[in-house]
Amino acid sequence: MRVTFFSAKPYDKKFFSDLNTKYQFELDFFETHLGPHIVNAVKENTFCVCVFVNDKLTNEVITILASKGVKLIALRCAGFNNVDLESAKRNNIKVCRVPAYSPEAVAEHAVAMLLTLNRKTHKAYNRVREQNFSLDGLLGFNLHGKTIGVIGTGKIGKAFIKIMLGFGCRVLAYDKFPDANFTAPNFFYVDFEELLRESDVISLHCPLTPENHYMINEAVLSRMKPGIMIINTSRGGLINTDDMIRGLKSGKVAYFGLDVYEQEEKLFFRDLSATIIEDDRIQRLMSFPNVLVTGHQAFFTTEALTEIATVTLNSIALVSAGKADQVADGVMLA
Ligand code: NAD
Repeated sequence: MRVTFFSAKPYDKKFFSDLNTKYQFELDFFETHLGPHIVNAVKENTFCVCVFVNDKLTNEVITILASKGVKLIALRCAGFNNVDLESAKRNNIKVCRVPAYSPEAVAEHAVAMLLTLNRKTHKAYNRVREQNFSLDGLLGFNLHGKTIGVIGTGKIGKAFIKIMLGFGCRVLAYDKFPDANFTAPNFFYVDFEELLRESDVISLHCPLTPENHYMINEAVLSRMKPGIMIINTSRGGLINTDDMIRGLKSGKVAYFGLDVYEQEEKLFFRDLSATIIEDDRIQRLMSFPNVLVTGHQAFFTTEALTEIATVTLNSIALVSAGKADQVADGVMLA
């Protein structure tokens, strides 16, 4: 049973190979993204392709996979905006994902970004290494008593909310499908407009869908408090980057933390330190002193990688044994 990986990094090889001793699948690893340029490298009768956030599973790619006998696309991530699910169904290819490998990993990274931007620990670290113990420029604010807006109260949003409540914040949340069972002191579901109006910090935790593409744009930014902090660990396409740059230049946005970026597939998960980056938007973003960019690392903990490999290999084993109905809830997408 052959499983071909795309966008495979050394840590993917390690975690999957270690756990594969239990399954004995034949694993092929490609470092490149899956796309039309490489899809023909998939060997005939490969059972499964295992992909990540920036692999492009378009109709064209899926049709070629089907012609090679691929029966399963296993996403080793939660988001699936990069897969044409209709095409997978038409081509009789099942699709599975890892819906919750570690919500806490992502939530904790969002908090790390929030705290770094606020208390400027990244600047302090560099400063004291040069024996500069001055505090000028390091002024932050107390999180205690501030209002945090959370868009999307699924697994990650809830983990983030619990941490923020622990800091003594008031948390307002907007979700298309609010969870009536999720209640806590100082936590309130509100409508989108109230969240924009009231929040000191807004953190995005909803999936990217055609409907919410660029949900943070110039008009929406104009309805937020001046000096807003925005954290995006969800998907880059939720934010119109040009509008965000204008918001940063005007001072309306005082802090922006992004772990995801709409053009990230050309940049993230690679060492480009000796390369000329042609993407002027990311270069502009990285030039702001009040912007913190991380390269889609929010999920990147030992616990999450173990869970990703465990759930993915288990799903592949069940689907290959004709037991897709026994795969845990939320894992099968098509
Ligand atoms: P989830 O499915 O548990 O929760 C998503 C929530 O968003 C749901 O409650 C849903 O009702 C809500 N929602 C959907 N559309 C919405 C909209 N238009 N406006 C407001 N709310 C909306 O998902 P999750 O596990 O919490 O993950 C959230 C997102 O985080 C994923 O879709 C993925 O894009 C991102 N993610 C990022 C990383 C990373 O490493 N940076 C890792 C994992 C997931």
